[in-house]
Amino acid sequence: MLCTVVKTGVDCFFMTKKGCEYNGGKCKTVIEQCEGCQKANDFPTGKYCIAFPDPAAKWRTGKCNMATHIKAPEKKEAVKVNPLKASKRGSR
Ligand code: SF4
Repeated sequence: MLCTVVKTGVDCFFMTKKGCEYNGGKCKTVIEQCEGCQKANDFPTGKYCIAFPDPAAKWRTGKCNMATHIKAPEKKEAVKVNPLKASKRGSR
């Protein structure tokens, strides 16, 4: 249902005909770590995350997994080596 509390017009899971059912009755504003994220949007009521009602909770246990301004560390692909074939190659 579309929010009519703080993120006006944003489709939200917590919005019901009785109003916002999120803890406290409305979303919490973004925090410092959200600066630069594309999901942090300005609304007439303040700056809110369009993905989460409580951005501080997303950052409490580490980096936000939905943040668009943080690059995930590159994973180095481990090259699998068959030890048997490697020993044959070495003996040639
Ligand atoms: S997606 Fe994460 S980093 Fe981006 S605004 Fe929302 S809580 Fe903040």
